[in-house]
This record gives sequence, C-alpha cells and structure tokens, in this order.
Amino acid sequence: MYKICDLHIHSKFSGGASKNIDIFKIAYNCNIKGIQLVGTGDCIHPLWLNELKCNLIETSSGIFYTPKVPDVNFILQTEVEAIWKNNSKIRKVHFIILFPNFEKVEESIELLSQFGNLAKEGRPKIYNSPEKLIFSLKSIDMDIEIIPAHIFTPYFGLFGDMSHFNTMEDALGTGINYINSIETGLSADPLMIRGISEFNKVSIISNSDSHSTNFHRLGREATMFDLNKLNYLNLIDSIRKNKIIKTYEFKPSQGKYYYDGHRAERHIDKKDYFCSPKLNIDICPFCRKKLTKGVLARVQELSDQKNPFKLNFQYIIPLLHLISIVLGGSEYDRANISIYQKLISQNGSEYAIWEGKSNFNGIPEDLKEAICKIRKGKFWFIPGHDAVYGKLQFED
Ligand SMILES: [Zn+2]
Ligand SMILES: [Zn+2]
Repeated sequence: MYKICDLHIHSKFSGGASKNIDIFKIAYNCNIKGIQLVGTGDCIHPLWLNELKCNLIETSSGIFYTPKVPDVNFILQTEVEAIWKNNSKIRKVHFIILFPNFEKVEESIELLSQFGNLAKEGRPKIYNSPEKLIFSLKSIDMDIEIIPAHIFTPYFGLFGDMSHFNTMEDALGTGINYINSIETGLSADPLMIRGISEFNKVSIISNSDSHSTNFHRLGREATMFDLNKLNYLNLIDSIRKNKIIKTYEFKPSQGKYYYDGHRAERHIDKKDYFCSPKLNIDICPFCRKKLTKGVLARVQELSDQKNPFKLNFQYIIPLLHLISIVLGGSEYDRANISIYQKLISQNGSEYAIWEGKSNFNGIPEDLKEAICKIRKGKFWFIPGHDAVYGKLQFED
C-alpha cells in the first residue's frame, strides 16, 4: 500500500518555528494535505517529548497516532546540528534522526546531553563529529536511522558550499557505513543528486522541513513508500533498500540560491543579475564584486556521471501557494484558503489532486488550468539567485 510520508518537521521549540504547533494541528493538517505518516519533529526536546508521550498512542511497533485524527500516523523524529572542527575549520551539518520507540529516544537523550543542551532548542546543537554521533547512536540501537538533511543547502548541508566536503567519507569518516539515505531539501532534486556517482549507493528521500502547520509548508515535499504493513522496521527497510516509489519535489530553480547572481538592491539601477554557472562568470558585470554562488554551481563541481540510473520523482508546488500566485494575494488570505478548502473537500486531499483527482466544480478557470500544467510539468522558474526566490512561469 502506497503511503505519502513527510519524515522531517519541527515543533514549536525550534528556532523560527510557529509557536502554536501542536500534535493535533499537525495531524489535522497532514490529513488535509494527504500525508499519511509524519515525523514528530524535535523528539529529543524534553518539553516536546512530554507532549508526544501525553498525546500519542502506539498503533504498531514504532508507529503512533492521535485518536482525534486516526488516519495520520507519526514516527519519532528529530533533527540535530553537528558542530565540530575539521582541518582547523568549524563545520556545522544537519542530520535527521529516526527512533524505533520512546525508550531509545530517552537513552539517546541521556547520551547526547553530554555533547549539547537539548532543552535549549528543538533542533539542538551537538558538539561532536558526525562520525562519533553516528557511532554513539548506533551503540544504543542499530535501528536508529541517521540521514544527512537537505544536503546541498549552503550553510548546513553536508555538501553545501560552506561545508565544502567533496565526499561523504571526508565528512563522516567510517560513519559512512551506516548512511543509507540522503534528503534532497528544497534546493536540490534527484536529477542533480543522481549526477554524482557517490550517491548511487544511497536512497533519496524528500521532506518538508516545515517550521509551521500551514498548508504551504507542511508536506510541501514528501516521499511515497510502498508499505504493505506500516511499522518502524518496514519503513526503515524501505529507506535502507531503496524501495521508494517516488519523491515529490520543488523545482530547484524556485530556490533562493539556484543560479549565481546578485539581487537588484545591490545595484544602483536596481536590476538583478544572474547567470548559469556553465558561463563561468565570477565577477558581477554591474558592480564588479564577486557573485553569490548558487547550488547549481556546487552540484556541477561534484557531478561526474551523465545518465542517472534511477529517477523517480514528480515536481509540485504547494497548492495554496499556487492559488495565491494565480488569484493574487497571499497564502494567508481568507479567500485563497477558502478556495483551497473547496478543492480539498471535492478531492479528498492535496496529494490526491497531484495524483490526478480533478473535481474542480466552481473553481476559477485559470486556476484549473494552472493545476493541470503543474501536473504535466509544463512550468519553469526564472531562476532564484542571491536570496531571491525564482518566479513561476507557465508553458503554453
Ligand atoms: Zn536543517
Ligand atoms: Zn553586482
């Protein structure tokens, strides 16, 4: 049975997260999105852990739910920031961690507390190398799964421009033997990742990394697994053996750092400049300063194979975001949210629409057309660059 999963979110205790996130809201909104299994986020934070214990009931081994929304399941999940010194430079890299049960979460809390203050924030800083982090978690339980998060984001991705590792082994040492999967993040897609032969050995998953329960954040990226029986070990087995049906992805060109470039406000005439890294331009022709490098440049540096062996993903953009682009206004406007809810009530969930459900009674014609174009992949972005998001364009 196919399940759409979002294995990386955050609680209200993470920096920059909405303060009114609770278990019920996560479950309720996941149900509307069509997410059937969601990470708890921040499960090694003591206050959030307490909320999880009070509100979640185990339905099968390692899988939980809240009786108010029985169709959405939870898995114990956190993200940590490993901080360590490597070649006399401070490195900071994010990892998703999945746990088989509450006991292993508590044992991990005891162990990781030696390396950082877990109560300080939902995504704690762990002052230890990833290699030691991986080995200490594996010494607690081999079924704890550690996954490098959003691997190409400039600051905290394992392969991001600031980390600047060229191989997984450089960053993880022998810990690499326990890495079975990587997360694409919003800034990269499987097409980019599969151009790098080192990743042939690992599966690719995609998650929202959401810091709120808003419909345009929660489940904005996701992974579809084939799980005939939903339990923790079956899910981990699918990740480890790459039994992944597909991922749902943002187009990387929508991201804020895709092309090399300078944003308009850097220039007297307020004009943007951006270019493909293929052109090999380092210096801005407008202001003569160094261009801000994008993710694509980093991917091209590492890319070493032409024909990726396995590609299974679908580009989407959050439906509420699409509604606000087509009809005007923002994702917070009542009128847009009510159109969104109308689409959900007619089709069951947002992912049901991306999977082809097309009950569009009373929906504006241009929005119907836009949804169909997104499903067919007939869209592109004026590339994002230097902290400016890409701009959506439709093909005829
Ligand atoms: Zn992160
Ligand atoms: Zn410039």
